[in-house]
Amino acid sequence: MRPFDYVRVREVATALAEAGADSDASFLAGGTTQLDLMKDGVLRPGRLIDITRLPLGGVELRGGNLFVGALATMEELAADPVVTERLPLVREALLRSASVQLRNMATIGGNLLQRTRCRYFRDPSVAACNKRKPGTGCAALTGAHRTHAVLGTSDHCIATSPSDLAVALIALDAVVHASGQDGDRTIPLTGFYRPPGDTPDVENVLKPGELITAIEVPLLPDGARSDYLKVRDRASYEFALASAAVAVVLDDAQVITSARVGLGGVATHPWRALEAEEVLTGGAASTDVFRAAARAALAGAQPRPQNAFKVELAQRTLVRALETVTGVSS
Ligand SMILES: Cc1cc2nc3c(=O)[nH]c(=O)nc-3n(C[C@H](O)[C@H](O)[C@H](O)COP(=O)(O)OP(=O)(O)OC[C@H]3O[C@@H](n4cnc5c(N)ncnc54)[C@H](O)[C@@H]3O)c2cc1C
Ligand code: SF4
Repeated sequence: MRPFDYVRVREVATALAEAGADSDASFLAGGTTQLDLMKDGVLRPGRLIDITRLPLGGVELRGGNLFVGALATMEELAADPVVTERLPLVREALLRSASVQLRNMATIGGNLLQRTRCRYFRDPSVAACNKRKPGTGCAALTGAHRTHAVLGTSDHCIATSPSDLAVALIALDAVVHASGQDGDRTIPLTGFYRPPGDTPDVENVLKPGELITAIEVPLLPDGARSDYLKVRDRASYEFALASAAVAVVLDDAQVITSARVGLGGVATHPWRALEAEEVLTGGAASTDVFRAAARAALAGAQPRPQNAFKVELAQRTLVRALETVTGVSS
């Protein structure tokens, strides 16, 4: 590991000043991604700013929205009674992520900023990785890409976005609160992540040195039914091959009056499936409508030889999640 300086901060202003003073610095929260990548030589910051003592914890209901401190842990958020009662898809997404030990360390801010699990990104002995070293190419295009993305890809990168939580949050219209040298701002999660395009190394719209302070999550309306379904190679401790976060409201005639759909495991960033939502809204809660929505969600997919199975897998995952929340069966 490359030697680095370490500083622990206790105030947001100090964290921002430290980050602003050193372009080679990086924040450290739970460390479950950051330290792995440093040990492997993928990330090589000259300075670590430990933010774990900042007053950015807690989960709190304010008005109709849940405010989640950036340093709240994944386990803390999963155990929150409001989440259990009003945002079950968030709870499911968290409980299907990593392990209890990791969830007790890992923070919500860090979860949203975790890096891809693409094996080539995580192996500096592989030269071609545009995300790790811009302009070097993409080893996954001609190499192993079974777990890679079919939506939102470019010729420069097809890496899959790994966060389960972000898929649920993007379906819920969550908002990121950030602080930087220029002040505070809010960023809708739908506009937070950047598709790879020709700069896959730039994954989100945060400015250098900007700190996530909280995530604001609107609660679902009364009567909404929601779930997060994750399909993976083994039952635990594994990232999604395909996942679906769904939330629907039905009227008395079993017509869908509101629908939210997020997809994970298949896209380069947490994916809001607006096309599926359009098909669902105003439609009857039926397997035929769910299948039409799933086809719409994956219509733009660009599969490659080893990950073509994900197109159908994602469709089936979405249909099953919708069947589960509506009680409809095929
Ligand atoms: C074995 C294993 C299995 C896993 N399985 C899953 C899984 O199934 N699903 C899933 O979603 N995740 C999974 N994860 C990933 C895990 O959820 C993330 O590692 C964790 O959420 C990151 O949080 P952290 O607090 O440890 O972040 P850190 O590692 O401390 O930081 C991650 C990144 O975020 C930056 N950062 C952290 N906090 C802030 C902030 N407030 N503002 C600005 N920048 C910040 C850091 O600088 C760093 O770049 C797994 C991880 C491991 C090791
Ligand atoms: S898919 Fe992206 S992260 Fe993986 S090797 Fe290609 S450029 Fe790198």
